[in-house]
Amino acid sequence: MTRRLGPSKLVIASHNKGKLKEIADLLRPFRIETVSAAEMDVPEPEETGVTFFDNAALKARFSADLTGLPALADDSGLCVDALGGDPGVYTANWAETPSGRDWNLAMQKVEDALQTKGPDAGRDAHFVCVLAVAWPDGHVESFEGRVDGTLTWPPRGTVGFGYDPVFVPLNDTRTFAELDPAEKHAISHRADAFAKLKAALF
Ligand code: IMP
Repeated sequence: MTRRLGPSKLVIASHNKGKLKEIADLLRPFRIETVSAAEMDVPEPEETGVTFFDNAALKARFSADLTGLPALADDSGLCVDALGGDPGVYTANWAETPSGRDWNLAMQKVEDALQTKGPDAGRDAHFVCVLAVAWPDGHVESFEGRVDGTLTWPPRGTVGFGYDPVFVPLNDTRTFAELDPAEKHAISHRADAFAKLKAALF
């Protein structure tokens, strides 16, 4: 049986400012008290999993173990059909540089990889988000969300984070980085996973 979230504080097990903001926005209606992993001095664990679920569960369990509180983690990424689903679970790695993450570089790498596939390669892509909630006793619940769209080039828009400037959701012409946060929250992979979490845990 699904375990429901009680009144205790929930740790948001992410160090990604873009995700923290979106998760706070999505949780606001539930008036649940939250604290970020950084505020609890919990470091970022190494993401050694090979699936979104593995990494979301690993991050949530790491924070729950260290804080003694339930913890929520998000593992997400961009999957491009013509690239066999890459960058997928390694989406953040494509942005790594010796001086930190560079999202312009990451978007350029995806575009370059697509160009090598030739003009007939489709530009279909989707974002996936797996949310995992872990309790200090090791129990984990998880929820998966997805949003389909296409990749555009060059990047457009200034809102959001990560690959938002190149992702155009289905039935729209604007990129995620050109949408109001509320519009993105109505359709995003994270919102889809949250709707499932909300139905199960609250
Ligand atoms: P991870 O889940 O920490 O491994 O990182 C996944 C990466 O996917 C993030 O750092 C973002 O760059 C990208 N990503 C996930 N969700 C979104 C989104 O809503 N918009 C843009 N990029 C995203």
